[in-house]
Formats: sequence, C-alpha cells, structure tokens
Amino acid sequence: EVRVRFAPSPTGALHIGGVRTALYNYLFARKTGGKFLLRIEDTDQTRFVEGAEDYIKDALAWLGISPDESPWNPGTVGPYRQSERKPMYMQYALDLVEKGHAYYAFDTSEELEAMRQRLTAARVVSPQYNSITRTQMKNSLTLPEDEVKSRLESGEPYVIRVKIPRKEEVRLNDLIRGWVMVHSSTLDDKVLMKSDGMPTYHLANIVDDHLMGITHVIRGEEWLPSAPLHVLLYRYFGWEDTMPQFAHLPLLLKPDGNGKLSKRDADKHGFPVFPMDWKDPNTGDTAMGFKEQGYMPDAFLNFLAFLGWNPGDHRELFTLDELIEAFSIDRIGKSGTKFDINKAKWYNEQYLRAKSDEELAEFLLEDLEKEGIPVDKEKAAKIAHIMKERATFPSDLWKEGKFMFVAPTSFDESVVSKRWNNDAVAVLNAYKEKLSGYSEDLSPESAKSLLEEAAEINGIKLGKVMQAVRLAATGVGAGPDLMAVFSIIGKEELIQRIDYALN
Ligand code: GLU
Repeated sequence: EVRVRFAPSPTGALHIGGVRTALYNYLFARKTGGKFLLRIEDTDQTRFVEGAEDYIKDALAWLGISPDESPWNPGTVGPYRQSERKPMYMQYALDLVEKGHAYYAFDTSEELEAMRQRLTAARVVSPQYNSITRTQMKNSLTLPEDEVKSRLESGEPYVIRVKIPRKEEVRLNDLIRGWVMVHSSTLDDKVLMKSDGMPTYHLANIVDDHLMGITHVIRGEEWLPSAPLHVLLYRYFGWEDTMPQFAHLPLLLKPDGNGKLSKRDADKHGFPVFPMDWKDPNTGDTAMGFKEQGYMPDAFLNFLAFLGWNPGDHRELFTLDELIEAFSIDRIGKSGTKFDINKAKWYNEQYLRAKSDEELAEFLLEDLEKEGIPVDKEKAAKIAHIMKERATFPSDLWKEGKFMFVAPTSFDESVVSKRWNNDAVAVLNAYKEKLSGYSEDLSPESAKSLLEEAAEINGIKLGKVMQAVRLAATGVGAGPDLMAVFSIIGKEELIQRIDYALN
C-alpha cells in the first residue's frame, strides 16, 4: 500500500511551495488508493512558531486535501508530532554508533568556529566537518576510548554525528530526476543527535519515514542535497529494502522566470489561508492569504496542480477528482516552473464564471448586508449575471457593481472631457422625456429602443453619445451591458441619475 507524507515544520505560515507539496502527495495517495499522512517536524524548538500547526491544518482543510492520518486524526503509527516522539530517537543514533556509522563529538562552538576560520584562511570553499577535518577535532574517533567514556560519564555535552565514508559514490534513482550521483567527499558528517537530546531533521525524518511505513517521499527540490545522506542512513540502519522512493519537485521560479521564488515573493502571494491576526514573527509583516483575497479553493487547487505538473494535453480546467484521475509523477517536470499570479487570477475567473447566477448572488448579498443595502435575491442574481464576465473575485461584484446600488455623485473626468458635449446633453434630455412617458417596467430591449428614439429625434448617431450616457448613469466610462444595467436599476432611478448628471 502506498503511504506518503507531508512533513512541514511549524516555523511559520505555509507557503505556496509547501501547499503544492501537500497537494501532490494527496493526489498521489488518492490516485493509488494509498494513505496521505501529515507529520509535524518540530524538533527545532528554536524555530517553533505558536499557531503554525493550526494554520497548516486550516489551510489544508480549506483546500479539501486533509490528511488521512495526522496529529489531530491519528492512525496507528503515531505520535504524529516529532517532539512527542523524542524518546524514540536516541536508540537509533546509538545503534549507528554501535555499528561504527556514527560517533560522539565533543567540540564546543568556539572550537567549531576556529576550525571554520582555519579552513577559510586556507581557502577551503565550503568548510565542513567531514572525513578530513574530523581527524583534527574532539570526537570519539580521535580521542582514546577511556577519555570518551569519562567525558560521557561526567555529563559533558556532546552531539552524535554520522560518519560519512571517505570515497564512495552515493546513488539514488529519483522518480522525477532519474539517477542522481554524489561523491561522499562532498558530504559532511551531519549531526544526528543534538546536545539537547533532540534529533536533527535528518535522523528524525528517516526514522519516522521508516516507522510510519512511508513508501514515497515527495518533497521540494531544496531537499535533494540531503537525499544522499538519507540513502546512507537507510543503508546503515539496514532498511534499504524498504527505503522509500524519492520524488523531488521542481523549483518555483519568480514570475519572470528569473531565479527562484524568494521568501519575499512568496510572502506577497504565497499564503493559502492567512489568519488576519497572524504576523510573521521574524519580519512583523502581515499579508493576505489566497482565501482572504477571494480565491476559491477549487480554482486555487487547479492553479497549484499546474505548478510543475501537466496532463500532457491542452486541458487546463480540472476538478479535484479529475486531478486525481489524471495525476502521475511521470508528468511532473524537472525544470523550474514560473509562479505567475495572473494565472491564478485566470483560474479564479474561470471558476467564477462557471457558477450559477444564484450561487454568485450569495457572495454579493453578503457584501450588501455588510453595507446595509437591502436587496432581494432575484435582483442580486441579475446583477451577478451581468457582472460575471468582468469579475476576478466574488468581492468584485460589489466593488465593480457598486454603481448599481449607489447613484454616482462624481464623474470620471477623463471621460467627461472627451465625451460630454451638446449632443450628449440633447440625447439625455430626450431620453429622460421618453422614459417618463413610458408606463411599463424597463426591459433591456425597451431601454434600448427608447434611447434609439431619443437619438433619432435629435438626428444624432447613438454610437457617438453612448459613452456619455453610460457616464451619466454610472459615473464611469466602461462597465457591463448598459441596457441590462438600466433595466435592473429601473426607470425612476435612471431618470433621477440623468437629472443629476444634467445639472
Ligand atoms: N520538515 C521538512 C520541511 O519542512 C520536511 C522535508 C521532507 O519532506 O523530508 O519541509
């Protein structure tokens, strides 16, 4: 059975890259009839952010991709928070020490710093604790056995480091990238167990993936450099047979394709859900989530799915079920993919237009209630109908359609200067007369024929004054079908507006 996991660290709000990872894991699990787990990787207590876990939970729930097993919905392999698994990790680190694949190190931070400076002075490009430098440091590979013993017994702080082999080619067959080969001389002796008794990411991640029966690790490309170490750890633990398959997702690039999407870019556009009272603890910035901006979850998911994957044909609109059906790791690209917020907007527009007038009217009615404007459902549906094609977000119905409810009190100057002239005044005066004399409710057709008559008796081509008519009634030079607008706002209101504009 396929078992995949999303393993965020609760260090802040979930970014676009993280949600994409969650989505791809979810799609893969659903496609294969497997399970989607969520594990909170909170071993780095210094980076822990209060509320981040709830935030992750809410974001996934909003998108409808909630995990099958998680801290709040545990299965049988819990706990699902690494901090709660703390007592489990030491034995695995000790097992590696026993087997000679890991060792105690007693170096103080000053000693480590001194080593780095020494290497930097010697022009070593990336100074690290590796198979060469470890021979000069204070660790159980260099100190006499009884000294190691007494140091441990006296309670001296230590870490446990992995012993990276000196000359070895480490290979892994990534499902997206194919064979990746790394020479062990480029790897360092990463810390597995910290001096506070907490495991590092590397140790906890491997132990947990193993114990939780994870079959596929689908994660962002930034973890690819860690993968060779992970392969070695699986080998040293003797778990090679059940080692998960790796799939490293392509980078997200800036909208112009120039370089990696930075944290700042992502902060601007990257949060799925953003609790209003949430502030980035490092920068103090607040931002708006996709949800709060008015993106709809199905549209956002569809957009997200295409950040690195495509179905191999020209289809772009997919429901979640259709995504599950079409998804495969084979069709995830290797090269970086541009994060284009305009594409997200495009998706939202498509999903908005696919909604019925009545569904959209609900959004409008909510906004109107907040504004204290009473409107019946039928009118709201009519307005939704004519505004649909122009809206990106549900809130645009109110923002862009405000003039339907509130008569303009000012007029777009640039349109006034270009279009307001004697012809317009003459036609509007005549139109007013025609409207007053018309006894029935105004339909788009009757609104139009009365206006045509008003132009004709003045011998003026309607096209020449049309924008001025719109200006008089709505205050601006562009908008939805004007005759439909007239029929919705009604005769009386229209006459009043023309009056106001003429005076
Ligand atoms: N805790 C890591 C993260 O925050 C998980 C990486 C992985 O999936 O192995 O992304």
